[in-house]
Amino acid sequence: MDHANLRAQFPTLEQTLDGYPLCYLDTAATSQKPKQVIEAMSSYYHKDNANVHRAAHQLSSRATTHYEAVRDQLKSFIKAQRREEIIFTHGTTESINMVAYGLTHKIKSGDMILIDTAAHHANIVPWQELAKRTGAVIKPIPLTEDCRLDIQAYDKLLEEKPAIVALCHVSNALGTQNPVDSLIAKAKAVGAITLIDGAQAIAHLDVDMQKINCDFYVFSGHKMYGPTGVGVLYGRFELLDTLTPMMTGGEMIKTVSFDSTEYNILPNRLEAGTPPIAEVIGLGEALSFLLSLPTAETAQREKELLNYLQQQLKNLGDITLYGAHEDNIGAVAFNLTGEHHQDVGILLDQQGIAVRCGHHCAMPLMQSLGIKGCCRASIGVYSNKEDIDRFIEALKSVKDMLL
Ligand code: PLP
Repeated sequence: MDHANLRAQFPTLEQTLDGYPLCYLDTAATSQKPKQVIEAMSSYYHKDNANVHRAAHQLSSRATTHYEAVRDQLKSFIKAQRREEIIFTHGTTESINMVAYGLTHKIKSGDMILIDTAAHHANIVPWQELAKRTGAVIKPIPLTEDCRLDIQAYDKLLEEKPAIVALCHVSNALGTQNPVDSLIAKAKAVGAITLIDGAQAIAHLDVDMQKINCDFYVFSGHKMYGPTGVGVLYGRFELLDTLTPMMTGGEMIKTVSFDSTEYNILPNRLEAGTPPIAEVIGLGEALSFLLSLPTAETAQREKELLNYLQQQLKNLGDITLYGAHEDNIGAVAFNLTGEHHQDVGILLDQQGIAVRCGHHCAMPLMQSLGIKGCCRASIGVYSNKEDIDRFIEALKSVKDMLL
């Protein structure tokens, strides 16, 4: 498939806003969806709609087969060892909350939880709640001046033997990438439980659970060309099996009486209630879409496009870039010197350019950068050089207007 054909798979991109063709540079917030995802969900509601795991009838059995097949697809996509290691959730946020809640019984007062300074709030607040419940202590891992995780400081903190290490794979605000394989190996060497927030990595990088070797890895469907409302919690079986379920009710039980309840085995034990069935089916289709692309070529194309975007921003002048490195993934963060990021965002929007402006759900990161917020332009498989050129032209006109 050539790139024009690939882009044509995304119907939302074929629209104008106030006479300007849409230039979508907000894929890090949520990706657009290819036709095959939209059609798979529509087809499920047209033909197969039924609850899963519950009935003898054919519709239910069709829905169950399809739903469980996506679990197998995910197992092979991230190279998990067992299908029971894949838990469907509603998104990254829920997945991290489930882990932080589920580990409560393993954490005691004074235990240390290490968190990446670049973390999204979803990878901070659930740990703070765990700390409140248990008396554990949160410590941030600082960043270097150029916004990479400070490895020396990390090594030093590991000497204190943290109970939990929670990192992001790729920062949503900056696009910086953590060397997760080595960071996890070090954390495991001191006996920490490890979690990686892969929300911004899963659609761009080869994510291999056997290589990364973390205990938990989490991501959202909507950032990988799938629907909203569905996400994944991967957990190493032995540890996943010890999580206290955050949600209880139907599906997650084996037997219930008013005297006692016996929980089901994994994966059902952590999937209480009716799951997001159509969304899981949509996610399966998003995986098929991703797998249909030539992986190495797509990654190289995205890398070149991002580096082009970084360079064009540098060339423009009066721009501050934050943590812009050649090996970044998918996103670039910037401010127009002296101007409020929201003003820049609104003026870009008036020319059909969609970027995100604000704190990017990463207030501690913004504090460490000494700013209130910034603009972020982010790309996906459908983005092309014309998007970048239009964005830079529009930003030039914003600059002329404001400076
Ligand atoms: N973590 C990262 C790195 C993210 O980029 C996001 C979403 O922006 C989240 C967590 C939260 O994801 P969700 O809102 O899909 O639960």
